[in-house]
Amino acid sequence: MSKVLIVEDEVAIADLEKDYLELSGFEVEIETSGDIGLSRALTEEFDMFILDLMLPGVDGFEICKKIREVKNTPILMVSAKKDDIDKIRGLGLGADDYITKPFSPSELVARVKAHLARYERLIGSNQMDNDLVEIRGIKIDKTARRVWVNEEEKQFTTKEFDLLTFLAENPNRVFTKEELFREIWDMESIGDIATVTVHIKKIREKIEINTAKPQYIETIWGVGYRFKV
Ligand code: CA
Repeated sequence: MSKVLIVEDEVAIADLEKDYLELSGFEVEIETSGDIGLSRALTEEFDMFILDLMLPGVDGFEICKKIREVKNTPILMVSAKKDDIDKIRGLGLGADDYITKPFSPSELVARVKAHLARYERLIGSNQMDNDLVEIRGIKIDKTARRVWVNEEEKQFTTKEFDLLTFLAENPNRVFTKEELFREIWDMESIGDIATVTVHIKKIREKIEINTAKPQYIETIWGVGYRFKV
């Protein structure tokens, strides 16, 4: 549920805004003081701010400016005077929208919905790409923990995945079974370095065309394993 903070010193207006927004499924909190409103806006998680311009203590201009220094959360400014709207625009405080009192509650709800939808799209498009490791036909998606071998997805257990990823991220380096065991299994784990051998065998069955002649994970006799690039 989206959470909205209203900073408004006129209680009747704040309550009206709250009622309509709650009817539309929003979670709403009210602060009547600019100082507390600002401090909550900066320290708590909200999805949208509705700021009255004239407030006791810190005014709406200042709150808007301070929020914008650290957050991109949508801000709707509310003013009693049309002139103030022009002033806000002129100051370039980074507010997303402006509404003049008196306004119809349904107009307010429509604007809040529109800004939240736009902001969610923006966040969605800014999501970071998954962390990928790609080596000769093997693609490892570390974020989603999925592996493809020549475009075909293969299923790996947690430890198989960790071991394959570790080797693929450190190619051309020889690791002893002891080093791999320490790296992938925690000290408390039941098992020994034979576990490493078993896991290498299972990984090879999934990534190699011919497990007798591995093209990816080579056995360095008497030493350990190496992921060949
Ligand atoms: Ca006011």
